[in-house]
Amino acid sequence: MARMPVIFFGHGSPGNALEDNEFTRCWAKLGAGMHPAPKAILSVSAHWCTRGTAVTAMDKPKTIHDFGGFSRELNTLQYPADGSPELAQRVVSLLSPRPIGLDKSWGLDHGTWSVLVHAFPEAGIPVIQLSMDVSMSAEDRYAMGRKLAALRDEGVLIIGTGNIVHNLGTMDWNPRSTPYPWAQDFHNYIGAAIRNNEPAKIIGAEGLGRIAGMCHPSPDHFWPLLYVMGTRQADDKVTLYTDKVMHKSLSMTSLMFHS
Ligand code: ZN
Repeated sequence: MARMPVIFFGHGSPGNALEDNEFTRCWAKLGAGMHPAPKAILSVSAHWCTRGTAVTAMDKPKTIHDFGGFSRELNTLQYPADGSPELAQRVVSLLSPRPIGLDKSWGLDHGTWSVLVHAFPEAGIPVIQLSMDVSMSAEDRYAMGRKLAALRDEGVLIIGTGNIVHNLGTMDWNPRSTPYPWAQDFHNYIGAAIRNNEPAKIIGAEGLGRIAGMCHPSPDHFWPLLYVMGTRQADDKVTLYTDKVMHKSLSMTSLMFHS
């Protein structure tokens, strides 16, 4: 079986689920261009942080509307993909001996479905989510990605969904605003580390002090990138998409590792 690519989605606002813009068109293209289609999808979302690691293991994950202040249309949107208890079990064995909980209460949060409604609009591919343990180090997240990489040879599409720069508090909704220098610098630094395959720089990024702190007042949107970096194989190519900082402090870069 051909090795599956891996995608990091810079998801931005939940509202993107209903929008037609350069980002959502890019996500649609990434999904439509995948031949063969994935047998299943494993998503690591910025919006599921837990104590200990868990994986969703229900047959029918619910669509979680984990945000406030959006339209009724967004608050009732459904992404009715099946789950995959088999894949959840496979993840548990791959990550052994670390204990992984089989979760029956979460579902699909907007980090996952706001991009999948564009990438795979039919919702015909089973999706599971892996939570991010808040106590894990950056090295641990990267190492977990390395273990999960085996799924790529089993027809599973691994996705991470977050943002390379994510400071909502400093954002300016004017679409023509210029990025803050610190946001642009961090965005460029991480982008270069991805292109040059320097995972140590990404693992060490939280140690960059004030700049990293400004770019990620809480690190949840950065963490999925660490898992994604871990899945990279030596002969993978990397492509970055919509590689820019929007609204002064929100990086909308997506990327794919592929053969
Ligand atoms: Zn988010």
